[in-house]
Amino acid sequence: MCALHKLFLDVLFPVGCLNCGKEGDWLCEKCLSKIKTRGEQVCPICEKAITPDGKTCFNCRKRSSLDGLLVCSSYRDKTLSKMIHLFKYRFVPDLHMPLAEIMSGKITSSSLPLPDLIVPVPLHPKRLRWRGFNQSALLAEQLSKNIAPGIEIPVQENVLARTRHTSAQMKIKNHQERKRNIQNAFSVIRPREIKGKDILLVDDVATTGATLFECAKILKGKGAREVLAVVVARQETDNRHKPSVNLKL
Ligand SMILES: [Zn+2]
Ligand SMILES: [Zn+2]
Repeated sequence: MCALHKLFLDVLFPVGCLNCGKEGDWLCEKCLSKIKTRGEQVCPICEKAITPDGKTCFNCRKRSSLDGLLVCSSYRDKTLSKMIHLFKYRFVPDLHMPLAEIMSGKITSSSLPLPDLIVPVPLHPKRLRWRGFNQSALLAEQLSKNIAPGIEIPVQENVLARTRHTSAQMKIKNHQERKRNIQNAFSVIRPREIKGKDILLVDDVATTGATLFECAKILKGKGAREVLAVVVARQETDNRHKPSVNLKL
C-alpha cells in the first residue's frame, strides 16, 4: 500500500484501540499493559510436566528435537485473541508491534539464554504472496532488537525454507494428519549458518506444535546445537479445536 493510500485510509477509517476504541493505535498502551502473560509453562511435547520456561521435560527429550517452547500469553485473553485473528487472517501487519512487545517482555523476564540466531518459521512462497507478509518474520525482526538491551541478535530468514506447500494446519483436526501434513515440508538452505548455533524459532501461534517440532528436527539434523521456540499463544489441549473469537468488524 502506498503512503498516500494509507493516509486516505487513516483519515477515512482512523485506527482505534481494538479493546477500548481510543484513537491512534491498534492497541493503546493501557490495554496493552493489561494483557496477561502466561505464568506456568509446560513441556511442549507432553503438555503435562510443568517445566521452567517451557523446557522439554526429561522424558520427552528423546522423542523430540525441540528443546523448549515459551508460550507468552493465552487465547483466553480476549484482546489477545482478537489481535492474533486480525494479524493473521485480516492481514493487519502493524499488529506485530504490540504482539512482539508481549513476547519480548516474556522472554526478558525468563531465564532463557540468549540465542545466537533468531529464525522465523517460513511460509511457502505461495502463501507469502497471498498474505503479503510473513507474520513470524515481522515478529522475529522486533524480537531481534528487543530481547537484549544494546545487542541486536541476528535474524536469519533464509536458512530454513518451506519447500512443500501444505494445507493450513488450522484446517486439519486430526493430530496424526497434522503431523503427516507438515512432514518434509521444510529444508535447510544454508547449513553452515546454523552449525553449532543456539537457535530461537519464532512463530505467531502454535496449535499441536507439529510445525515447530518439524522445524527443530530439520535444524538439529543440519547441526544446530539447541533449538528453543517462542509463540504468542498456543491452543491448549482442552480447547484445541475451538480457538476462535467472535469478531464484529
Ligand atoms: Zn485501549
Ligand atoms: Zn514432556
